[in-house]
Amino acid sequence: MNSSSILNSLGISDPGPGLLIGSSENIGEGPRLEIHSPIDGSLLRSVGSSSPADVARGCEAAHDAFLSWRMIPAPHRGELVRQFGQVLREHKEQLGALVTLEAGKIRSEAEGEVQEMIDVCDFATGLSRQLYGLTIQSERPEHRLMEQWHPLGPVGIISAFNFPVAVWSWNTALALVCGDPVVWKPSEKTPLTALACHHLLMRVIRDFDDAPDALSVIVNGDSEAGKALVDSPHLPLISATGSIAMGRAVGQRVAARLGRSLLELGGNNALIVTPSANLDLAVKAITFAAVGTAGQRCTTLRRLIVHRSVKKELVSRLLSAWASIRIGDPREDDVLIGPLIDQAASEAMEHALSLAVKQGGKIHGGGRVTSNVPAGGFYVNPAMVEISADASVVQTETFAPICYVHEYDQLEEAIKIQNEVPQGLSSAIFTDNVQEAEIFCSPAGSDCGIANVNIGTSGAEIGGAFGGEKETGGGRESGSDSWKNYMRRATNTVNYGTDIPLAQGVEFI
Ligand code: NAD
Repeated sequence: MNSSSILNSLGISDPGPGLLIGSSENIGEGPRLEIHSPIDGSLLRSVGSSSPADVARGCEAAHDAFLSWRMIPAPHRGELVRQFGQVLREHKEQLGALVTLEAGKIRSEAEGEVQEMIDVCDFATGLSRQLYGLTIQSERPEHRLMEQWHPLGPVGIISAFNFPVAVWSWNTALALVCGDPVVWKPSEKTPLTALACHHLLMRVIRDFDDAPDALSVIVNGDSEAGKALVDSPHLPLISATGSIAMGRAVGQRVAARLGRSLLELGGNNALIVTPSANLDLAVKAITFAAVGTAGQRCTTLRRLIVHRSVKKELVSRLLSAWASIRIGDPREDDVLIGPLIDQAASEAMEHALSLAVKQGGKIHGGGRVTSNVPAGGFYVNPAMVEISADASVVQTETFAPICYVHEYDQLEEAIKIQNEVPQGLSSAIFTDNVQEAEIFCSPAGSDCGIANVNIGTSGAEIGGAFGGEKETGGGRESGSDSWKNYMRRATNTVNYGTDIPLAQGVEFI
């Protein structure tokens, strides 16, 4: 399928709308965005965007939808999400193709991202019958003490370019079963996939008894639209995914109005390889984690911390594995590394590598790839940099395939190196020594939200809570009990007696 037929098959008009409130589509009063494919720089579509007044309209409509959706029984809300999962199954290939076109992911990763959407719909459907509260023993006679979880209100979602559909679905599937409509501001680099997701969800909403039309709202635009979303008094929760700089701005803005924020920000992920590690497994895992998705995952492996005794062998095996990987057009079957999202990403990579050289790093690989790749895209060789863990360049996340390598002698030293960065998203250890594995997972081990043993840092399953500590923002999305973020807890004490005993034995009238 060519790009026009993919876009047309997913109902994306030309120009695409900038404000979508349920079935109503509008170009929006904000500036037009021109969306180019990172594969070859070709213009895919122009789309409208939302002005602050448009965003306010979208949030008001979502609030009105909330007033009726919150009263629909949760298992019935789950049925809507189940049906959405079915629609996604039917359109997995087309939506995956659009993710490839707009974000540059290779086909299997793009379809894997859509599979993640399907998985989270299944998860949320089951959850719709399990939004349990506790019953607590009351200290007062003839009293019942209990907790209920109620819908919270419309959820504002801000997403990054690199998971253009999955992050929205993690939030949306849970929000909808919890009784909350969603207002989504997708990345200004990937609004087309957002339009496609909205259209697919609206197919279900339109035919579903009792579902208000404005359960799904999209406000396209850049950070200005994002700021308007963040400021809306109709959105009790802002779930924002992106860079630490964005999270710092959003977190403070939401806090100023005493709203709730759920922040999923940048990582600086590390993997420790111990002397007992199975290097065959480690090479595979490190390769996917470090160079997969062209280094553009929040969980991409950025720092490899290797025991001195195995470093030479591991580095040489990794370099030969990486040299055999085909870089190019992500639509081709044997390509494993597609383009960076844009020129700025390529320049950021060059800048980080030149800093690394100044700070004593020894670089393997890196540099632009210009042959056997489509003209107009930014393709790069992954870089491995042997460098001291003290170098300042390793403290920041560069969103490109650069993997810094450090060496260590004692496990405590490796864990210290790993934890000595401001971010705390994902981490891993490769070891066949159970004691080392347990230390790594203990309170004295990794300080990250994700700590893996004998698997890489990237490619999490939806069943676990996803997110990280420190400057990664502390939010948790997707599985486990993350749903609690999307509801409000009410504590109810019910007196079925004939007296008014006070707690703590207080005597009054
Ligand atoms: P980005 O921060 O540039 O943009 C993310 C989103 O925030 C966009 O929609 C953007 O328009 C919006 N935005 C930016 N400034 C804003 C502001 N002041 N107010 C409101 N909205 C604002 O990030 P990106 O380049 O699209 O994505 C890459 C980054 O995202 C990396 O740092 C990556 O690690 C991170 N990321 C984190 C996770 C996670 O789950 N922890 C997942 C994916 C990506």
